[in-house]
Amino acid sequence: MSDVPVLIRGGRVVDPSRRLDQTLDVLLRDGFVAAVAEKIAPPKGAEIVDAAGLVVAPGFVDLHVHLREPGFEQKETIATGTAAAAAGGFTAVCAMANTDPVADDAPTVAFVVRRARETGRVRVHPIGAISKGLKGEELAEIGSMKAEGIVAVSDDGKGVQNAGLMRRAMEYAGMFDLPVVIHAEDSGLAMGGVMNEGWVSTRLGLAGQPAAAESVMVARDVQIAALASARLHVAHVSTRASLEAIRGARRHGVDVTCEATPHHLALTDEEVARSGYDTRFKMNPPLRSEVDRLALVAALADGTIDCVATDHAPHHADEKALEFADAPFGVIGLETALPVLVEALLSPKHLSLMRLVEVLSTAPARLFGLPYGTLAEGAHGDVVLFSTTRSTHVTPDGFHSKARNSPWVTRTLKGRVERTWVAGREVFSRGPGGAKP
Ligand SMILES: [Zn+2]
Repeated sequence: MSDVPVLIRGGRVVDPSRRLDQTLDVLLRDGFVAAVAEKIAPPKGAEIVDAAGLVVAPGFVDLHVHLREPGFEQKETIATGTAAAAAGGFTAVCAMANTDPVADDAPTVAFVVRRARETGRVRVHPIGAISKGLKGEELAEIGSMKAEGIVAVSDDGKGVQNAGLMRRAMEYAGMFDLPVVIHAEDSGLAMGGVMNEGWVSTRLGLAGQPAAAESVMVARDVQIAALASARLHVAHVSTRASLEAIRGARRHGVDVTCEATPHHLALTDEEVARSGYDTRFKMNPPLRSEVDRLALVAALADGTIDCVATDHAPHHADEKALEFADAPFGVIGLETALPVLVEALLSPKHLSLMRLVEVLSTAPARLFGLPYGTLAEGAHGDVVLFSTTRSTHVTPDGFHSKARNSPWVTRTLKGRVERTWVAGREVFSRGPGGAKP
């Protein structure tokens, strides 16, 4: 039995894969995009969606989320994490390997794939670990994980300190055509710092980690990538010096891409002071200086930063209720990504609407070779409908995520996701109560 066709009428269709920005109808049928054109006649029995005044775009793709299952179901599950994704307009997410057990072998990856099929609301693509147990000592079973569907390898959460192991990981991942995603952190330089090292950390009396703890690892790994002819992707880039290392490497032909998070693009370490040591502003890499933030914004516009990824990192409220120095790193981000980018980048015209959709959808899909990020006829019926003028009021009870550790709680942000479809089926709708302008 086939699904009811969906006709999305009269929206502003923004499709970076074809540089298309035009008022059009979009027809979803049998899981795919059946047509994109002016005034499509509704097929019999079709659901008609009035998209006037709204943007219709290919569903967002997040290369960096922590779904916490297996092992940390008190923080998040694949069911709740993907419900959060759908509510944020994301139709595909890549799940990091730092679960318990770690996704460092085929059975654990197979478990994630199966759970996602049974309980996931959006598409889930697992990322396998680089090293067994994320210990940075022995390579994980990259080949057998690839057979179960991993799309990249990463020890995210920890930097790989051993350069020799990183070289072998890059050589091995290259044989399986997988990108290596680095969490760039030199643990000796970071030295247990809980926020950015600088004037603010000094003032607050908190241990800081210097920007160089990130950028020296980026500088190291682009050189190893050149040596290994590898495909390197730098996760959550947060400093100006890291961007300079990436630009320099590209000039020399190194195959390196990178992502930035909405929080690093919109916030600085001053928030830790302003909020009075609020742990909702504690993440790794930490919020940096305004100089770094401005460099990130410029780099996202000029293409040095390829895409946005949320680094959605749910924690239980009790864990985040600890003292700043003791609380775990990480903030949730799936449900606020679009409004944060509209508020911080689109509205002040730091980014065009075309580029905004590109960095959330078309670019990340391309980086990991995923068949999304386009509304071309025949493409997967993964679509987001959003407003750039309506507002999202972020409340603790409004999240679909199990977690509440968001820096945006109590804030009102411009931009709002209205509806999301995966394979032509609705997976999120704001509903009549919330859909008022
Ligand atoms: Zn990380």
